[in-house]
Amino acid sequence: IQSKLPQVGTTIFTLMSALAAEKKAVNLGQGFPDFSCDPALITAVSDAMQSGLNQYPLMTGAPVLRVAIAKKIAMLYGHHYDAQNEITVTAGATQALLTAIHCCVGPGDEVIVIEPAFDSYLPAIALAGGKAVCVQMELGNAGYLVPWEKVAAAVSSRTRLIMINSPHNPTGSVLHPRDLQALADIVRGTDILLLSDEVYEHMVYDGMQHESVCRHPELTARAFVVSSFGKTYHVTGWKIGYVAAPAALSAEFRKVHQYNVFSVNTPMQHAIAHYMGDPQPYLELPRFYQRKRDLFRAGLQNTRFKLLPADGTYFQCVDYRAISDLPESEFAQWLTTEIGVAAIPVSAFYADGKDAGVIRFCFAKQDQTLQTALERLNKV
Ligand code: PMP
Ligand code: GLN
Repeated sequence: IQSKLPQVGTTIFTLMSALAAEKKAVNLGQGFPDFSCDPALITAVSDAMQSGLNQYPLMTGAPVLRVAIAKKIAMLYGHHYDAQNEITVTAGATQALLTAIHCCVGPGDEVIVIEPAFDSYLPAIALAGGKAVCVQMELGNAGYLVPWEKVAAAVSSRTRLIMINSPHNPTGSVLHPRDLQALADIVRGTDILLLSDEVYEHMVYDGMQHESVCRHPELTARAFVVSSFGKTYHVTGWKIGYVAAPAALSAEFRKVHQYNVFSVNTPMQHAIAHYMGDPQPYLELPRFYQRKRDLFRAGLQNTRFKLLPADGTYFQCVDYRAISDLPESEFAQWLTTEIGVAAIPVSAFYADGKDAGVIRFCFAKQDQTLQTALERLNKV
């Protein structure tokens, strides 16, 4: 058949996880924790199932969960969404992103994407008939920065949407208030919408705060804000997240959502709503992951891998050019096969395959897993 996505193959995450399994390598490639979630969360799912919460929930999500999400956003970022009309529960952030794009992007519309970009963005835009206009982040001593003047220059009369992601996968960079000010200057007076991927909102380090779009009323008014419980609660396989957006945007989102998934599994919505009553699990995440980041960075200190800044997410990027001049995907395969540690080539996050000699490691792992990986990486 005529492919709708001729450029698309199997994702780099699937490929590297398969290679890691085949070679029995430590898998620091695909981003997921190798430890369990809080047993109380599992008990809460079981309790929900036992109590009969097993049929379709409302299309928009279980009200208790939407209320819990709205409360949390208000407490953390000061924006008061109406749980009834402005929060929708989704089957993970991936669905939220695809549905948000589909509800506002049509043939010929342009979407500005900042690269490197999470791999679902470009295919989702292509499926909607839209055209991605990519602006690459610039890597300097301070790490990866968004060149906002280039974003401004990329805006045209066809620009429908600008996508941002902070904390950022794969670079681990975070946006600061000055970035959101620059973005506000670009969109002010236009009808451009924003899609803010904030799935790593609770993984920001060194005392910095997550700069949610929800802290900026001017931006919130035109934004779809996406997050994922998979990241926050160490359950990436649960595929449950949400989108928060003003009522008019949420109404359009829901038109697509109801024919996309209709609704998201009931017991987990109730379990998460119950579990969210205690903010401690997500408030502890920065400290929890910063310790792992620091352990991993310290262990690479005496290697020839050059550590790039890692202010947020559970990813650490390194420049390996002092070690090898192989292209990134070949180097990642070599590292997996010969050294026994899998990583992700950052080139996979660029439409043009830009290759800067940088790979991404995931440090959401048990200390023992990180130690094993570090012993191997110290032999490179
Ligand atoms: N956006 C980014 C930046 C991600 O890293 C991920 C997870 N890899 C997602 C979206 C998708 O999240 P989910 O698993 O909830 O679909
Ligand atoms: N978000 C994960 C990562 O960046 C992978 C998600 C996936 O496998 N699609 O590693």
